[in-house]
Amino acid sequence: MIAIHDPPQPPLTAPGLTTRAQTLPDHISPSAAKCYLGCPLKFYFERVARIRKNTPVALHLGKAVHAALQAFHIARWRGTDDTPETIAAAFDQAFTALERDEGPVNFEDEEDRGKARLDGLRVVAAYLDSPEAMKEKPRAVEVLLKENVPGLSVPLTGAMDLVEGNFTPVDFKSAAAKPDKANAVFDHEIQLVSYQLLMEIATGQVPSSLDLVFLVKTKTPQVIRVSSPPAGEHRKRRVIALLETAVQGIAARRYHPQPGMQCSWCQYKNECMAWLPGQVLTERRAA
Ligand code: SF4
Repeated sequence: MIAIHDPPQPPLTAPGLTTRAQTLPDHISPSAAKCYLGCPLKFYFERVARIRKNTPVALHLGKAVHAALQAFHIARWRGTDDTPETIAAAFDQAFTALERDEGPVNFEDEEDRGKARLDGLRVVAAYLDSPEAMKEKPRAVEVLLKENVPGLSVPLTGAMDLVEGNFTPVDFKSAAAKPDKANAVFDHEIQLVSYQLLMEIATGQVPSSLDLVFLVKTKTPQVIRVSSPPAGEHRKRRVIALLETAVQGIAARRYHPQPGMQCSWCQYKNECMAWLPGQVLTERRAA
């Protein structure tokens, strides 16, 4: 049940968003900035009020596939068992553990759950069988960086799925349909350029490209790499300005609806309809 309160203001504290001097967030990540810029009120429901919803099937599947790829890349890095059977077992383990640890998934029934599991296994197998599967030892796997970036009033954080030997950061995306390459780079601009900024500050190296690898859940799964050249000054300044816009909005507690295409798949429509300016929505669990 959702209750409406007048101010005082809501707490800013949330995972990854602890407060500094009760104003600025402790840091900003590209995913938090993208979420805030997409819809500040949805950001509030998800990351500040932390209103729990059943996990969408696509998100659950994407996380389990991500865990399987992580197991593969770590095995490549350590030189341990990276056979398809071991990686499929890592997928199954994550598929079950995520349900247990993160709450119910929006499966229609057991048959729907079984289909999602098989889709995930097929996508993972397609990746391992593709030219994109890492053949050499990666430079790093699951890299978490936090750096001060000129022009940004809080540190920037980012978690890169994989860093290849030539310092190329690679992020893996599960998708239902084949991506349009130009749109994919535009959609993920904040993330890609943030990774470059972090990489340059942490290592002094300019990545040779900024890459996305899409795992497409079509009938015959496809694995598609989308590469973008490293950003020049204009792209960097633009992304830093977008990140800073999110930081300032969070600090000022500007949480308002931003109606658009994203509302079609938003899980917070009821809470959104209850919103009025100057009011704060919090979750009140039924007794
Ligand atoms: S329904 Fe649309 S405007 Fe409302 S919170 Fe969701 S995304 Fe934002």
